[in-house]
Amino acid sequence: MGTAFDGNAGVGVNRIMRSVFAVSFLSAFLAAGLAGAAQCPHNPDALGTSRVLVIDPNEHSLLGSMQYRETLPLADREVVLTFDDGPLAPYTTRILEMLAAECVKATYFLVGRMARSNPELVRRIYNEGHTVGTHSQNHPFTFHRMSVEKAAREIEDGFESARAALGDPNAVAPFFRIPGLLRAEGVEEYLSSRGYMTWSADVPGDDWLRISADEVAKRTIQRLEAKGKGVVLLHDIQAKTVLALPKILQELKARGFRVVHVVPSTADRPKTVTAPEQWLVAGARPRPKKPWPQVLASTTVAERAELPAPGLQSFVLTLPDGSRAATPQLPPRASRSVIARAEVPLPPLPPWPRRVDTAEVTADPDLPAPSADTFAVNRPVSADGALFPVSLRASVDPPVTGSVARPAKKRAKPATATAAPPKSLRAIFSSQTPPKPPAAIRARPRTPDSKPVTTSSLRPD
Ligand SMILES: [Zn+2]
Repeated sequence: MGTAFDGNAGVGVNRIMRSVFAVSFLSAFLAAGLAGAAQCPHNPDALGTSRVLVIDPNEHSLLGSMQYRETLPLADREVVLTFDDGPLAPYTTRILEMLAAECVKATYFLVGRMARSNPELVRRIYNEGHTVGTHSQNHPFTFHRMSVEKAAREIEDGFESARAALGDPNAVAPFFRIPGLLRAEGVEEYLSSRGYMTWSADVPGDDWLRISADEVAKRTIQRLEAKGKGVVLLHDIQAKTVLALPKILQELKARGFRVVHVVPSTADRPKTVTAPEQWLVAGARPRPKKPWPQVLASTTVAERAELPAPGLQSFVLTLPDGSRAATPQLPPRASRSVIARAEVPLPPLPPWPRRVDTAEVTADPDLPAPSADTFAVNRPVSADGALFPVSLRASVDPPVTGSVARPAKKRAKPATATAAPPKSLRAIFSSQTPPKPPAAIRARPRTPDSKPVTTSSLRPD
């Protein structure tokens, strides 16, 4: 019973699982069909566009293995279709129709003069989802030997013509292909400096040669097979290209190639993340790294040790009379090159406060001789009763009043241990050769105050 039950249960489970698988498979099939229909609704069997590759023109300025070391980072069996020299009816129109029938997106390199003549075709190319780059204004075959200034004019005029046809500067991709692929370094540098990406190609279709349409298709496919992937160069102004394209698209589909649509990155359309080596053409060496950012070598630091260590000259003060204040000798330790030893520099002797040489002060004949009055607590009174600040008494000659002539002995205070004047002052006052007082002071009547001051006279009575 138990076994029978288990057996029945097992059959039930198998049926359920089979149903689940069937539903899942159907869902996946329907989803794939819907996706295909959404991508190319009128042609479920279309070649289609497998993916969009967003690239930053400022990161890779030169593309195409025919001439450069880098090309688009395509996977195996991936193809990018490009058409030069148009637009020109009816060829451009026919090619647009064929690409639309297969839901294939391509990149166009328009000639400015052609865009001026056929602006409606430029708009159709853009509106059908293709990328619009440029191919100079007049398509001269002299880019390899013309001046950069002239090439720049051709380049800018070509972009301006395409932008004018579309009425939107942002609608034109910063992609440029040099006419005839006649590259020149100055031109490439100019293009790069302007943020334009220079496109060469990987697979030439030879549709500009005197060969049949079948030969164009044959060479294109053979070269693609040989490389396994790449950027195909064709022209949408040739009858043979129009005739060759159905065969090329058919072969691409039959051989399992997938078409990639390339667009430039913008602020709201980030670039497709790729590895640098994906851009390298097989066998090409990577471009040498730019000398930036630079790393400071240890020798650079050592060279700085030759710079003079800051000395006291940096801190010398200039006195009002133009002379320089005396500076003590630099201690031996501070004179070493501190940077060479990677030490924190010791400060030199502080520029302030500075010890003043007594002889310097006493040698100045213009300075008034301090007297006991200088340190008097009572201030002098002028004729109108205003008080003179004490500090002015030595330099300003106040009106002679009775208070000025007051004997200093009466204002002297008893001596205490804390009342002793600073050592430097005592040194000044004990000088053996006191300077002469100013004339105004000398003219005063001699009083006990105006006698040469000695240390003992500061002593209170
Ligand atoms: Zn061309």
